[in-house]
Amino acid sequence: MKYSQTFIPTLREEPGDAVIASHRLMFRAGMIRKLSNGLFTYLPLGLRCFRKVEAIIREEMNAAGSLEVKPPVVVPGELWKESGRWESMGEGMLRVKNRLGGDFVVSPTAEEAFTALVRDELSSYRQLPILLYQINTKYRDEIRPRYGVMRGREFVMKDAYSYHDSEESLDEHYRAQGAAYRRIFKRCGLTVLSVKADSGSMGGSGSEEFMVESEVGDNTLLLCANGDYAANVEKAECRRDDAPPRKAAEGSPGPAPLETIDTPNVKTIGELCAFLKARPGDFVKTLIYRAVNVELDLSTAPGCGDLPRRKTSPGAPETYPEAFFAAAIRGDLEVNEVKLAAALKASEISLAADADVVRLTGAPVGFAGPVGLNTLPIVLDQTVTAMDDAVTGALEKDKHHRHAAYGRDFGGWMIADIRTVKAGDRCPLCGGELYEKKGNELGHIFKLGRKYTASMGVSYLDENGKTRVPLMGSYGIGLDRTLASIIEEHHDENGVIWPLSVAPWQVIIIPIKYQGAVREAADGLAAELEAAGLEVLLDDRDERPGVKFNDADLLGIPWRVVAGDKNLAAAVPAVEVKRRSEKEARLTPLAAAAGEIAAAVRGELAALTAG
Ligand code: ATP
Ligand code: MG
Repeated sequence: MKYSQTFIPTLREEPGDAVIASHRLMFRAGMIRKLSNGLFTYLPLGLRCFRKVEAIIREEMNAAGSLEVKPPVVVPGELWKESGRWESMGEGMLRVKNRLGGDFVVSPTAEEAFTALVRDELSSYRQLPILLYQINTKYRDEIRPRYGVMRGREFVMKDAYSYHDSEESLDEHYRAQGAAYRRIFKRCGLTVLSVKADSGSMGGSGSEEFMVESEVGDNTLLLCANGDYAANVEKAECRRDDAPPRKAAEGSPGPAPLETIDTPNVKTIGELCAFLKARPGDFVKTLIYRAVNVELDLSTAPGCGDLPRRKTSPGAPETYPEAFFAAAIRGDLEVNEVKLAAALKASEISLAADADVVRLTGAPVGFAGPVGLNTLPIVLDQTVTAMDDAVTGALEKDKHHRHAAYGRDFGGWMIADIRTVKAGDRCPLCGGELYEKKGNELGHIFKLGRKYTASMGVSYLDENGKTRVPLMGSYGIGLDRTLASIIEEHHDENGVIWPLSVAPWQVIIIPIKYQGAVREAADGLAAELEAAGLEVLLDDRDERPGVKFNDADLLGIPWRVVAGDKNLAAAVPAVEVKRRSEKEARLTPLAAAAGEIAAAVRGELAALTAG
């Protein structure tokens, strides 16, 4: 293709709002333009690269046995009411009404649309497993779209869904998707880390995220120095690090009795530590949370006896639209709200408003504690069960308890692991030291169990004629974010350095002046390379060589061939061949250039695809 016939509006200056390299370079190289906040137009160059990523994903999905379909992007709200996510998806989901007043959703994901399809088509176990995917537009009304297409409002996702008659069958396809993801990222030249992940509002039993390391990553990852454990902080666990019980440490004959003490104007743990000459780890910190759409059965939980419940569809579990909980944790640790929400099977949790804290604990904020707290269920972090001499709030202004012992003075309605794991904590598998990294999520695979198939009423007859509900998995990759991440990993100060597999063209030919013998040589070389199956951009513009070189670097085309008068007029006519990733060009005989480049490109592409 000739440069003059393309539309690649390169820019010298950077967009004002671009913080990361991929955003800057996609803009400067003329790959994208912004239409509105979080909404981008791909220009021809950007779209070429996008299509390459798409083709790799499609090939690997097909190889994993998944079949491509294309459902609509706008789907009836009714389906989301059946699954229960009409309520639980929150503001991120764009809801629209049609002219008849019907509710519709612009798909943020498509569990509902696929499950509705399968519900209509599935009747017998013989049809299972059903393995489907789409590569299609998604819309999420992100609060803060940023970093260009990394976090847009409209984006393209490959999302696959699978339906099974056994755990083994689900496990098998879950593994096949995971393996396909690893191949996809490798072929795209990406270094990706897979981590254990929270299943969030998706529900389900197991999930794994595929992350690229990034300074501006939204995710905190905990990794073991010994390399055997990697998890998102939303899911990360660590080895218990309980302090020895104090009564034992101090050699006292037995636990001191619970005592209530005056703590006037002392509110924070820091102030209390100074006041009582104690360490943060001696406190039980108690926080009051409001949870939404709680799936747990709270009928026997303190204060929850007559909480209203609802069922969003006949097959959906009964949930509590709102419930309050106390979460108690050792004073030197932090509650992880995602882990707490998972333990409560709640779609969302947040700290309760001050007025609710006063109503439920009978004291202002800062004096909550588990001793005598019977107005709401208490979730105890497991570390608290080792505490036998703790300081806690006494449910009264300016009062605390000391010598509080788990089991003797207080208990919990639930004991769970709700702590935030930090760098320096110990690996749950080997005890090695955990360290932190920031990551950006490119893909996510889930085992969903029967959450959607049960709530949406999907069933089939097994070999004994018994009605059963299939198991389900879901598997997503963001194409735009994958493309941007490739640039993050492959660029320098002058521009992109595309891996061959996703490069818009594999070779750029730059004639110093596109006329006479140079033009003839450039045209001939382009024809030869194209005949060998390569994609070639011929820079036929009437621009200074410096401008052409700069644009070639910015565009990031992996091989550059420069054709000039002097080298072509030599005894053995030659051209300059340079890889974008290397500094120096090599003089190569014109007659050999196409063959050498084609062989190198083929070899490298094969290496990216192998394994
Ligand atoms: P995030 O935590 O980054 O918001 P998510 O957990 O909501 O992502 P999933 O629902 O798992 O994302 O979606 C699957 C994939 O879709 C993600 O791994 C990511 O690659 C992509 N994706 C999600 N949201 C966006 C977005 N706003 N812009 C671009 N890609 C996105
Ligand atoms: Mg996710």
